[in-house]
Amino acid sequence: MNHSAMVIGAGTMGNGIAHVFAQSGYEVTLVDIKQEFLDKAIGTISGNLDRQVKKGSLTEAQKAETLSRLSVSTDLPASAKGKNLIIEAATENPEIKKSIFKTLDEKADPECILATNTSSISITQIAAVTKRPELVIGMHFMNPVPVMKLVEIIRGYSTSQKTFDQVKSWSESLEKIPVEVNDSPGFISNRILMPMINEAIFTVYEGVASPEAVDSIMKLGMAHPMGPLQLADFIGLDVCLAIMNVLLDGFSDSKYRPCPLLKKMVDAGHLGKKSGRGFYTYS
Ligand code: NAD
Repeated sequence: MNHSAMVIGAGTMGNGIAHVFAQSGYEVTLVDIKQEFLDKAIGTISGNLDRQVKKGSLTEAQKAETLSRLSVSTDLPASAKGKNLIIEAATENPEIKKSIFKTLDEKADPECILATNTSSISITQIAAVTKRPELVIGMHFMNPVPVMKLVEIIRGYSTSQKTFDQVKSWSESLEKIPVEVNDSPGFISNRILMPMINEAIFTVYEGVASPEAVDSIMKLGMAHPMGPLQLADFIGLDVCLAIMNVLLDGFSDSKYRPCPLLKKMVDAGHLGKKSGRGFYTYS
């Protein structure tokens, strides 16, 4: 089979997903709405490959081969043709994702599998805007994608066994470990992680402790490799807020209400690492 993939969205996750597919031998087209986002993503991928070369886990030749398998485009409809797999990693917003999936359904080859890297939005709802819901699936990578082993594979209501088996096999070809879950708000990872992060933000909001103290307690006391607020900055506070809103809406349970401080920080444009400022500052 010809291995040709497309990744939509060249942000935090999209560049990492494109990186691992290209490194594993797939021809990859990375798509975003502006050329500057694509240029930045290729710069990030190149820098991350350099780090792998320095560590000795990749040769210079393998780096060059990986980059040669990557192409970029701002023309989503034209790029959708001739692909076996398309992974959408655009902004965590249901309307943006549904609009992308409508276009993909029209333009992608009939057999092409359409996956979404959404952190929390219903796979079943995204699939329902297409005429091929059996070919739509959740493929939830973890950040940073080149490092983290897990891919949470989410079956929508109509996802076929064949689609699931193919995506599981592709995930293993990336040297990732797929774990199967059914469609439910936040799936498993974010249904458990995000309320913890939100609660950590509440403790700062209520003046119980500083961000540094909260993170130190969770790192030293619970052996977490990263404190919840540092992790929130790393994920992106806008992404965290979007996930909390999906949990609140999906379960209709006030225990998922986003902390007012999280909302305020997002309104202020303090989105974490990607904007240079969140609970911590980044240069
Ligand atoms: P991001 O904000 O870093 O990047 C999103 C990118 O999508 C931007 O470059 C934006 O220009 C692009 N985009 C928006 N609309 C588009 C369109 N119509 N066509 C093409 N590109 C478009 O976001 P991110 O953190 O990379 O998150 C992407 C997805 O991955 C979200 O669904 C998010 O929930 C999920 N996710 C994020 C993390 C994380 O740690 N950040 C982890 C797992 C999953």
